Amino acid sequence: MKTDRSAYLFAQAQKFIPGGVNSPVRACRSVGCDPLFIKKAAGCIITDVDGNTFIDFVGSWGPMILGHAHPEVVEAIQKTALDGTSFGAPCSLEVELAEMVCAAMPSLQKVRFVNSGTEATMSAIRVARGYTGKKKVVKFDGCYHGHADSFLVKAGSGVITLGIPGSPGVPEEIVRNTLSIPYNDIAILEHTLRDASLDIACVIVEPVAGNMGVVVPEINFLRKLRALTSELGIVLIFDEVITGFRLALGGAQERFGVTPDLTCLGKIIGGGLPVGAYGGKAEIMDMVAPDGPVYQAGTLSGNPLAMAAGLAMLKVVNRPGFYADLEEKSAWFGGEMAKIVAKFSIPTVFNRIGSMMTCFFVKEPVTDFESAMRADTGLYGQYYRQMLAGGVWLAPSQFEAAFLSAAHDREHLEKALMVTESSFKKLIV
Ligand SMILES: *Cc1c(COP(=O)(O)O)cnc(C)c1O
Repeated sequence: MKTDRSAYLFAQAQKFIPGGVNSPVRACRSVGCDPLFIKKAAGCIITDVDGNTFIDFVGSWGPMILGHAHPEVVEAIQKTALDGTSFGAPCSLEVELAEMVCAAMPSLQKVRFVNSGTEATMSAIRVARGYTGKKKVVKFDGCYHGHADSFLVKAGSGVITLGIPGSPGVPEEIVRNTLSIPYNDIAILEHTLRDASLDIACVIVEPVAGNMGVVVPEINFLRKLRALTSELGIVLIFDEVITGFRLALGGAQERFGVTPDLTCLGKIIGGGLPVGAYGGKAEIMDMVAPDGPVYQAGTLSGNPLAMAAGLAMLKVVNRPGFYADLEEKSAWFGGEMAKIVAKFSIPTVFNRIGSMMTCFFVKEPVTDFESAMRADTGLYGQYYRQMLAGGVWLAPSQFEAAFLSAAHDREHLEKALMVTESSFKKLIV
């Protein structure tokens, strides 16, 4: 594979951008590669600057549920841009998208748009603290909620991938107010939440974890979490930045039938443009300025291009049968993948729910951070490089999800399965 042009750009990038990338996992260090620079993408195919093409299972880390450059999304952005790109005043697209989001997720009575998932989670815990007058935030080991100070405690995604234990630059005083406990462990959860001395404002959770690789919650874990937080007056926040509009139109909360007080959204909601959102019970959201005293603002929030892209995407996923089709395709593909990896004597665990999945190189089931961390990342690196050479674009980390989109057709999925089989044959254990 010729990569001269990417190599040149990466050398230039490193002169001006830390690590040559604007988000750390893109540097591909944990899989022993240099990043490829992308020229364009359409449907499920992504093309680098040297002209290599790949079947894309990253989907920009989640947003591209329709595949790349979906004509309706592109058209909406183009049309909207002709009328100006930012007003700093309300526009009708914000109202339309807010109405659509609240209809898709009935637990959202009110919603505020921001510019990223990080902003959504950061604002949601501020509101929860303002509402309860309490201080502590409970999160779960291996869940990732963006890069705000409070969340960089046993966090997933790039934080695990790079082996960073927390982060320098985050004051100890802040981290002290974040408690991180094991995912899927009901006993520790109950013990922690019942400790009144802890002064807990909220619990934030990825209702399906996607940032330590895909880890599916036990249904009783989510139910117990809901029951305990309701009983104890603790705000329950679902971070559905990945799962919102991914696992169902109404996200994981629809799929599992468990309703949080606040929800954080991102990724799909922006149709590939930078949008995040947080919303929930009106009583809590009314704490947000200007109705209430909790301050949160944004110069580009509700940006017309971003709203138009999000609206166009949500209109497509709202069509009848969208999720049923995606589910059927994902179940077929996941089943075939599981069959292929089972043919080899290499230990693997294949976790999948809906169109998100991870193949862990590990023996025992992966149900939490600790079991995910037992995965053989060296083996994943080999697998990643073989798949890339075969024309399949995976996340450059063991601890991420692979995503299917509506644009993955049978032909490309069959090719990806063939490449998987030949990649496994070449793995050296
Ligand atoms: C990606 C992600 C975030 C952060 O979103 P950004 O837009 O990258 O800031 C937060 N929570 C979860 C669950 C995510 O997957």
